[in-house]
Amino acid sequence: MPPQEPSPYGARLAKLRERIAEERLEAFLATSLPNVHYLTGFSGSAGVLLVTLGDSLLFTDPRYDLQAHEQVRESRVVITAGDALTAAAKRWNRSRLLRLGFESGAVSFQTHRGLRKLLPKKRLIPTAGWVETFRIEKDEGEIEQIRRAVAVASRAFSETLPLVRPGIREIEVAAEIEYRMRRYGAAQPSFETIVAFGERTALPHARAGARPLRTGECVLMDLGAILDGYVSDMTRTVFLGRPSRKASRMYQAVWEAQKEAEETVRAGVECATVDRAARRVLDRYGYGRYFTHSTGHGVGREIHELPRIAKKQHAVLPERAVITVEPGVYLPGFGGVRIEDVVVVRKTGAEILTQTPKDLTVL
Ligand code: ZN
Ligand code: ZN
Repeated sequence: MPPQEPSPYGARLAKLRERIAEERLEAFLATSLPNVHYLTGFSGSAGVLLVTLGDSLLFTDPRYDLQAHEQVRESRVVITAGDALTAAAKRWNRSRLLRLGFESGAVSFQTHRGLRKLLPKKRLIPTAGWVETFRIEKDEGEIEQIRRAVAVASRAFSETLPLVRPGIREIEVAAEIEYRMRRYGAAQPSFETIVAFGERTALPHARAGARPLRTGECVLMDLGAILDGYVSDMTRTVFLGRPSRKASRMYQAVWEAQKEAEETVRAGVECATVDRAARRVLDRYGYGRYFTHSTGHGVGREIHELPRIAKKQHAVLPERAVITVEPGVYLPGFGGVRIEDVVVVRKTGAEILTQTPKDLTVL
């Protein structure tokens, strides 16, 4: 029998407790589900986690009784008849401790007011981005899961390409991609699949519609899969029939920008450096002002995680961060090109997870 993998959850809770102590709090209430999942392994759609220096309690409802007990080892599971958050607050109210940190980005104004009422004598202290920051640096197990999610999307993409023929509609291409991702194990797409044709490719977040494809047009596809709780994200732009000179030049520019940006990725490099590398190439081609978004973002349990690969982001990339590199150029009324890979930050450079070719593809 292979040796049992050590569970990552104990280490994650230990890190959180260190932070709780550093910030002179006495407990932390996780209400963001991706964070609860990350800290406990619990993947249900309702649950909150109360972590003190000596204990960790996952509150959820009877629907998840079995699942929570199966998935959660390093926290105690508390099944509550009513609302999990109310149960957690009542439990905290009975303790002698005072200072409770909550996730200010994951608690609505109304929920905060409710907590205040339930905890009249306690101190509620807003925290921001604690667990999100821990999540930047993945462990090798998480990287493997992302690698699998990337492979599912790449396979669905390659198998859909032969179907991209004159007359097919954007929405049909999106459906073909999503159907294949599901067949290969995806729980669902990690976001609404973007498929745009012709001049609509100039919209970075185009919603697939009924527009039929005509020869000579470009096709932009941005897709991702959720597999075992981890996501992927990729974009390719291809052409049906030979592209115009202008379109080929645009493609060349984005391809070079993407390559140069990936070449700067390495542990210890500032996020802004990666962004700048892409921007510099596009500026040289005269497309700088048509690159209207940032160069990338972290991926993991969610499609947009930290870090942000953008201007003025002076945070340094740690080893094993997983990010996208996705420059694009969008010429209004003409069209756009974007190329996106998922890469792992290593000491020696970027490990590119997305294996789909990037050279100009003419269908
Ligand atoms: Zn994308
Ligand atoms: Zn992306």
